[in-house]
This record gives sequence, C-alpha cells and structure tokens, in this order.
Amino acid sequence: MHKKYKIAVLPGDGIGPEVMQETYKIINIIKKKFCINIQTLEYDIGGIAIDKHGTALPEKTLIGCKNSDAILLGSVGGPKWDILPSEKRPEIASLLPIRKYFNLFANLRLAILHKKLNYLSPLKKKNIQDGFNILCVRELTGGIYFSKPSEEVKNKKVHYAIDTSIYHKYEIQRIAKIAFDEALKRKCKVTSIDKANVLYTSKLWRKTIDEVSKNYPKVHLSHLYFDNAIMQIIKNPNQFDVILCPNLIGDVISDECGILTGSIGMLPSASINTKNFGLYEPAGGAAPDIQGKNIANPIAQILSFSMLINHSFKMTNISNLINIAIQKTLLKGFKTYDISNDKNFITTEQMGNEIVKSFIEEL
Ligand code: NAD
Repeated sequence: MHKKYKIAVLPGDGIGPEVMQETYKIINIIKKKFCINIQTLEYDIGGIAIDKHGTALPEKTLIGCKNSDAILLGSVGGPKWDILPSEKRPEIASLLPIRKYFNLFANLRLAILHKKLNYLSPLKKKNIQDGFNILCVRELTGGIYFSKPSEEVKNKKVHYAIDTSIYHKYEIQRIAKIAFDEALKRKCKVTSIDKANVLYTSKLWRKTIDEVSKNYPKVHLSHLYFDNAIMQIIKNPNQFDVILCPNLIGDVISDECGILTGSIGMLPSASINTKNFGLYEPAGGAAPDIQGKNIANPIAQILSFSMLINHSFKMTNISNLINIAIQKTLLKGFKTYDISNDKNFITTEQMGNEIVKSFIEEL
C-alpha cells in the first residue's frame, strides 16, 4: 500500500483560484507518472470564506489543515474586504491564526534568476551575468514584531512609543538548524545577517549560529552586517546560497532578493515548523487588478507546490524537476504579461500547459 500524502488546498481570493488550477495540472502528472498517492482537499479561506461562512478562517478549514500533511494556499484579500476593521481582514483573520496554530516560525523564500533571463532583473547585466539562486530563511515569530512592550505611551508627563526585540536562544537555534539543513541540499553555504555591532539580540544571534554551525562541518558559514548585506546582494547576488535572517532584517532582505528576479509573480514562499509541516503560498497577494483576466503568472504558485513536496514530503528530485521545467519554459521564450516587455505574452492557462509540457520532457 502506497503512503498517502494529504494536501489542504486553499485557493482563496483574487488570482488564487486561477493559478491554483495550473498547479493541479502538475500535481496530476506527478500522481500519474510517479504513482504517488497525493490527495488534495479544498477549503475556503479569506474573503470568500467571510462571504460564505461569516469568518475568514472557518472551523472546517482549520480542521482540514490539521488533518493534512501540508497546506497549499493561493492568496487572500481584495478591495471588497480591505474596508473591514483590521482584525477581521482576510490576511489578519486567517493567515496569522494559521501561522500561530501550527507554530510556523520559519519563512523560506526562493529567488531564482536564470543567467539567460537576466533582462528580467532591474540590476545591471554585469552584476547578474551568472544569474542567481538564493534561499532566504527568515525567523518569522520572534524579534521586534512580536516582543512586548510594543505601544505608544501618552500621558501628561510623557509621549513616546516603544518597541521591544527579544530573541530566545532556542528560537535562534531552531531557525539556524533549518537554514543549515537547507544549505546541505544546495551549495552548502550560509550567510547570516545581523547588526551584531549594535544590538544585543544580534550578538546572541551570531554566537548561537556559530555554535549550531559546529554540527554542520560541510556548510560554510559567514556573517554580514545588515547594511553591508543589502549592498552585497545588489552588487553580486550570485555570491549567496542560503541567507539566514532575524525577523525584521529578513522582511527587508527577502523582498530585496525577490524584486531582483523581475516579478512578484515568480516568487514562492513557505512557512514551516520543526515537524516538516508547512504553509506554502506565492509571496505576492491576491492581485485584484488582474483577477479573472487569465493573465496572472502561475509560476509562484507552482513553485510553492514544488517547495511543498521538497520540504514537507522530502521529494527533492521531483521538486528539482519542476524547477527545471519552469526555467526551461522561460528559456523557450514563453512569458506571461508581468515578465513581457512587449505585447507578446501568453495566458495563465497557456503558461500552465507549457510548464506541463516542459515537465513531461524532463521525465
Ligand atoms: P499584490 O501582490 O496582490 O499585487 C501587487 C502587484 O503585483 C499587482 O500589480 C499585481 O497584479 C501584481 N502581481 C501579483 N501577483 C502576480 C502574479 N502572480 N502574476 C502577475 N502579476 C502579479 O499586492 P497588493 O496589491 O498590495 O494587495 C492586493 C490584495 O492582496 C490586498 O487585499 C492584500 O491585503 C492582499 N494580500 C494578500 C497576501 C496573501 O495572501 N498572503 C499578501 C499580500 C497582499
């Protein structure tokens, strides 16, 4: 009897359902060609769930996620729900509780640019002659975004605002382990980014990462200060393999790496915990401006699925084949509107079909 892999699929709002349809095409090929028992069950989330069930994260959806091995999300939100009070808005009321419930403390973002596609990047050609392939590993649940006190204080005597940044050693250890494990599957290089010249949390960060690195003799570790890292990424992104960051620094660095690939429509992301469970989703949002037009780029969604089978199902070979198929499709000259510099572009559906063709050619 084959092992059953269960995925909770949450297409959500905006372009989510459109790009998810293209991902199903790849899932179906994998099921057939590799005889793998992947079960996908769909649940409502975000704005559509508010409309249908009165809440952005219905009980049925959370139970469906709990009974699965991984979550594949499209996107949530849109103008219709942006006017709700912030605690009821789709992103806040659905994604944050899921991250909290499953303790998804590590955010992984993959930014890949093939050397022959370097015209997509806003960087100068000479800086990206060899393309790049960077995995940003960001700590997602600690540091300055979550530590208390964090408030504005106003009374007769004082008026100030305060944010606090706390990092516990165990939080740094567990995110470091994820980064080193990922590096072992790649070019065995980790660059950790901090402000250890100024911040105590960064000093502990650096010391702890050095300690964890002793368990990974094959991985080369280096440290960079945040300000220098931002410049180095622009000067020569290809020098990086895995970049490891605390929460706030990772917020900036992962967006920086992302934009260097040319389009948010090609950026996947994963939020994972220590048990290989994860929520996999495009880095972009619901893109309401292009919803229903059949022009969204499905690559971010397909790559999110690729990350899912790599991290949660340990099917690294199949995941690599998907990544290769996507690069191959782009190299054949197929482009969706977001990466096309002329009127020559194909639809969401056509891009999905071309990726499937390239994938089958690789099998
Ligand atoms: P967005 O990422 O949805 O869109 C920004 C721009 O990128 C738009 O021009 C859009 O057309 C384009 N874009 C995004 N994905 C694309 C794709 N796959 N192919 C082609 N172009 C693509 O960000 P926004 O406009 O700030 O937010 C729109 C809505 O999405 C808001 O309601 C926001 O709250 C929500 N949102 C959701 C998530 C999520 O689901 N995780 C993340 C960010 C924003």
